Amino acid sequence: MTLIFCNHKFQYEIERLFRSFFPPVKIALSTDKADAHGSYCLTERSFDGDTVILSVELREQGEQYCFSKTLPADTSDKEQERIMSVLLFKLLREYTGRTMPWGILTGVRPVKLLSQYGDGEAQEKLMVSREKLELARTIERIQQPMIAAIPKNSYSLYVSIPFCPTRCSYCSFVSHSVDKAAARMDEYVQKLCEEMKRTAEIAKQLGLQLDTIYFGGGTPTTLSAEQLRTVFGTLDAFDCSYVREFTVEAGRPDTITREKLEVIKSAGADRISVNPQTMRDSVLEAIGRRHTAAQTEEAYALARAVGFRCINMDLIAGLPTDDVEGFRYSLDKVRALAPENITVHSLSLKRAATLFHEQDRKTAGGAAEMIDYTHVALKQDGYAPYYLYRQKNTADNQENTGYALPDTESLYNMYIMEELQTILAVGAGASTKLVDTAGGRIERLTNHKFPYEYLDRFDNILQLKEQIFDFFV
Ligand code: SF4
Repeated sequence: MTLIFCNHKFQYEIERLFRSFFPPVKIALSTDKADAHGSYCLTERSFDGDTVILSVELREQGEQYCFSKTLPADTSDKEQERIMSVLLFKLLREYTGRTMPWGILTGVRPVKLLSQYGDGEAQEKLMVSREKLELARTIERIQQPMIAAIPKNSYSLYVSIPFCPTRCSYCSFVSHSVDKAAARMDEYVQKLCEEMKRTAEIAKQLGLQLDTIYFGGGTPTTLSAEQLRTVFGTLDAFDCSYVREFTVEAGRPDTITREKLEVIKSAGADRISVNPQTMRDSVLEAIGRRHTAAQTEEAYALARAVGFRCINMDLIAGLPTDDVEGFRYSLDKVRALAPENITVHSLSLKRAATLFHEQDRKTAGGAAEMIDYTHVALKQDGYAPYYLYRQKNTADNQENTGYALPDTESLYNMYIMEELQTILAVGAGASTKLVDTAGGRIERLTNHKFPYEYLDRFDNILQLKEQIFDFFV
């Protein structure tokens, strides 16, 4: 199928919307109307006197669909883009017989965007379903008091540990398996601590107050207990007296030991993630995670025994070889453990994931059903959704949602998704996000992606950090 953009600049939105209806199909892109033959979808803008005509046309296997709309020529480009997206959405809905619950919204942060629309407007102008709108509104309501309580001039610290025991087949992060990275892990820890110290000095000079700390990756607990001690020791360089939340991702149960959990706890962390992704051993094997569901339960019990205030567990809807029954089973197992937070992702297939390139990838159907079940079941248990984001190429065009029992919502997750606070990030692949809350300005400073680049060009990393000053002057 060829997707053709003729005489307009709405390619980005149009292509994303188009792909959401046809995730596995290969699409050729063109800006030449002469390519409108065979199997194609033509999106076109033309002018006629004081009007502009937007049209979308699809032809495939003898079938033809065509929608168009005529508007005053002075209609803004943004509005034209929206209307062309609605035309394409309606055409693809009719052609495929499928509907996309998020309508024409293709961005990462629908909650933020929907807050600018009334209910009727969102459904009519953006084609968002009533269920997704309700979800977004619930999240907005839950976030409001937390947003009001964000301290002025505060920031969060993100520490990246981009190593994992093995690489999951669906993973698109930069994370390296320990086998590959073991030789340089001590060096990584040492450089990371240097970057943390410089970051602490910068924050002090700028009078910024540390609000939350988040260790992610990768899997931070891939580090040894000794290496973790060294990294956590470096937090002494920061003024941690106002820290309200301190999370460590201990995602892979096969990296968790009592000793490591005690090191994490004594460093002051009060929130931890133990991530099953699925509670079915056959699915774990299919995605390349070398642990069992029983290990997840053991790791969870250990984390409880060590006494963390809040435990999060992640699941993924749509994993290879899974099915709706299997997902329900996994969710019910996790519910029975009763962690304070449960985060449910929809499988998102990106090019960097090995699964993306597997010819015979058996990703599960029924992701929408899995997500619907999650919402109903967790509501019954007293959880509420409190943050949400979307990714490209997700199973059934669904979303990722964090659920929490009352008063256990993660501040950091909300900050990062809604872009509410500056995040100073350290480590390979980490991205510092500078947020001017008064003016709405946002800038990013991204560290080298891979650990070897980070180590070999560490001087660049320190130079980049100095640009934080430019943002705040
Ligand atoms: S544990 Fe997470 S970061 Fe590590 S390989 Fe798996 S998905 Fe990627």
